[in-house]
Amino acid sequence: MIIGVPKEILERERRVAALPENVATYVGMGFQVLVETGAGKGAYRSDDEYRKAGATVVDDVEELFARSDIILKVKQPYFNAKVGKHEADMIPEGRMLITFIHPATPYNHDMVRRLRDRKITALTMDSIPRTSRAQAMDCLTAMSTVSGYKAVLLAACHLPVFVPMMGTAQGVLKQAKMFAVGVGVVGLQALATAKRLGADLYALDIREDARKGAKSLGAKVVGFEAPPEVAIGEGGYAKALPEEWLQKEREVIQSVLPEMDMVILSALVPGEMAPVLITESMVASMKPGSVIMDISIDQGGNCSLTRAGEEYWHDSVMISGLANIPGSVPVHSSWMYAHAVQEYVKNLFKHGIDKPDLDDDIVRYSMVTHQGKIVHHGTLKAMGEL
Ligand code: NAD
Repeated sequence: MIIGVPKEILERERRVAALPENVATYVGMGFQVLVETGAGKGAYRSDDEYRKAGATVVDDVEELFARSDIILKVKQPYFNAKVGKHEADMIPEGRMLITFIHPATPYNHDMVRRLRDRKITALTMDSIPRTSRAQAMDCLTAMSTVSGYKAVLLAACHLPVFVPMMGTAQGVLKQAKMFAVGVGVVGLQALATAKRLGADLYALDIREDARKGAKSLGAKVVGFEAPPEVAIGEGGYAKALPEEWLQKEREVIQSVLPEMDMVILSALVPGEMAPVLITESMVASMKPGSVIMDISIDQGGNCSLTRAGEEYWHDSVMISGLANIPGSVPVHSSWMYAHAVQEYVKNLFKHGIDKPDLDDDIVRYSMVTHQGKIVHHGTLKAMGEL
């Protein structure tokens, strides 16, 4: 059985799906490992380190895809301009792909259908269940930690004001206000980072646990409480709010939005499209020079104006839809991601490297396509096929 690790092709993506230490683990399990030349460069890991760990370094990416039984990647398959082929089409029929796929997002639907048509067993790292057994495989939490941290640093760099309160010889400058909408892993890390920078913190979430977490970091909780039966689903996670409640939520957000300097959006419902919580008219009411970091962009975004992969000024408000923030902290994010994927692979092949356990609950939960079918609930729902 051969594992292939191609170099990531998304612009500014510097992560890699396996580090040399992970290659050594896979080789120890009995896999042969192919790594594309320069795959670890963005995370400062050399081809020689991969060779020493037991990998074969391959220059030709098409050969790597053709020979591999399992492709390990970070980002979803994209068109590889260098070879003029889509990564999804380079995977031979019936083989396996393990990566972030974000399959419910509309702009990924065509790619998911390609995977289906090529009978790929595609396993997505954004659908690992939040059970204690799966904790070490939880790639989303690992990457969310990076996104929350870096989003605040990026926002602070765009701001035309200081973040902390500053006592100067000319007088006292007020601290910046930061608003976290959605206080899961991203939002909590963003609040913690903004607190270290000295911001005045505000937060809103539809789960009571999340609001408690925000309060414990010193944030003022913006009052919006949907009844638990409307907001909380299976396992204590958020549910998609009905439109009438989303409308109420937008009104509450609107009541504080004009005061905010940084808005960090990370409100998500597992396996679903992100709810739109900030509309164009709401952006128009924001302070000139303020910044929206829409971290939910892989699921479509929480702001209706966010453009995937872009940062732009909408009049005088900066709206950032950068899609690969963890890719800008490549050493630590590769380390966390590659180790989480390694745990996933170990679990998948726990009965032997030629016997993937496709009935395992973690594997089933993360499966997107298999044997020519789309089997991922959130994706089928988003495609209108449920
Ligand atoms: P997520 O990315 O799915 O959602 C982010 C946040 O958005 C959640 O807090 C959710 O309540 C909130 N949200 C959804 N709809 C909203 C709306 N309309 N308005 C405002 N907020 C909305 O979740 P996550 O960050 O991956 O995890 C959520 C929580 O799960 C974490 O805070 C943590 O307590 C827990 N968790 C547990 C494990 C584990 O046990 N292995 C791992 C990770 C997270």
